[in-house]
Amino acid sequence: MHRISFVNGEFVTHEKAFVHIDDRGFLFADAVYEVILYYKNRLIDFDLHIARLRKSLQLIKINNFDVSDAKIKEIILELFAQNNLNTGSIYLQITRGNSPRNLTLPKNIEPTFIATVSPVKSSLTEETLVSIKVMTDIDMRWSNCNIKSVGLLASLLAKQKAIDLGFSDTVMVRDGFITEGTFSNLFIVDQNSTLITRGLDNYILGGITRERLLKLAQLNNICVEEREFSVDELYNAREAFLTSSTIGIVPISSVNDKTIGDGQIGNIVTKLLKLYLDFISMD
Ligand code: PMP
Repeated sequence: MHRISFVNGEFVTHEKAFVHIDDRGFLFADAVYEVILYYKNRLIDFDLHIARLRKSLQLIKINNFDVSDAKIKEIILELFAQNNLNTGSIYLQITRGNSPRNLTLPKNIEPTFIATVSPVKSSLTEETLVSIKVMTDIDMRWSNCNIKSVGLLASLLAKQKAIDLGFSDTVMVRDGFITEGTFSNLFIVDQNSTLITRGLDNYILGGITRERLLKLAQLNNICVEEREFSVDELYNAREAFLTSSTIGIVPISSVNDKTIGDGQIGNIVTKLLKLYLDFISMD
């Protein structure tokens, strides 16, 4: 069966899913995106993802994207149906649109809107946790990481550096404090079993999985702190893990070859995976 994607109002075979070379997403990364998990025929936290997408659009001043939330949902569900997937991820991207290369923001151009679905393989589909080794590196990204911008080169290079050095990912550090993973948020559990993650600011993306896990933790009497934490606090944590809509929850066994806790998958992360799986499986 052909993979089907969506480009500017049309469902097209993936091989024919094109945008123009004048598209400002292509020329300048003048675009934002969103990724949502579809789990056993349910779209997870759609409203939170769409609110974040609209916030990102507002922050980069794309003010004329006029597809309603209901229409976006209809397109997404249609894509999963046409691709015969009951679990996967949906990638949505909106660019400012096509216009001859111009450094000022053009007015009155139609935004480009594309959507495509992919299968996911993560703790959410396998329903088990597998831990990874990460390294730290300086956060080389811009200062608007709260915008879900498609300008991801710094993140791609940071992740590739980790892989080339034999790690799975990079945890980024700004001014001595951890920001986040290259494509995920980072949590630690300290020696008092407190769950800690950086508070929302312009140096991290406000992850929807992060937000959901914080709520689930609080509802289940896990002590939570949203605050900056240092590389030393990460080294001394009892548990550490990354979160995102597609990877789910990924425990970290070591950072720069320093073992986290006893190197085994911890109790809190195991409990949180169970709570999260219950949440996404809920009718
Ligand atoms: N931070 C960054 C930089 C990301 O790219 C992502 C994944 N989109 C996340 C955090 C996690 O966000 P979410 O839980 O909404 O997938």
